[in-house]
Amino acid sequence: MKKTYTSDEIEVYFEPKRCIHAAECVNGLPEVFDTEKRPWIDPEKSDAQTIVEIVERCPSGALTYHRLDGGEDETHDETTIRVGEDGELYVEGNFTLNDGNQEVKLNRAVLTNSKDTDNPPFYDKSLSERK
Ligand code: SF4
Repeated sequence: MKKTYTSDEIEVYFEPKRCIHAAECVNGLPEVFDTEKRPWIDPEKSDAQTIVEIVERCPSGALTYHRLDGGEDETHDETTIRVGEDGELYVEGNFTLNDGNQEVKLNRAVLTNSKDTDNPPFYDKSLSERK
């Protein structure tokens, strides 16, 4: 289930099932993203532009945002796909994912065709740890 964290300038959304624990958020802006605190995301602790730069580093798309300060929401001129060590696909851009049940518009995702994941078609980092 997607959770929302709000300041006057920005709404930050977090979808736990898509987090692959890449730690871009907690390493990039620990004053906003702190797993020791509840809530663990506090957008009041920084400005919208700084938060946007960190959220857009989240490879899985577990973090997304909507700006409330008149700034532009996430957009890309092109879509890129990179193949990871375990064959997972890192996709970044403006794209629509059709998983056979529904279509969703996304900007970032890590995808797999493994049947092992609890959250197909999204890549689960624990898949590589099971090897
Ligand atoms: S950057 Fe994204 S994938 Fe990585 S820990 Fe943060 S929310 Fe999870």
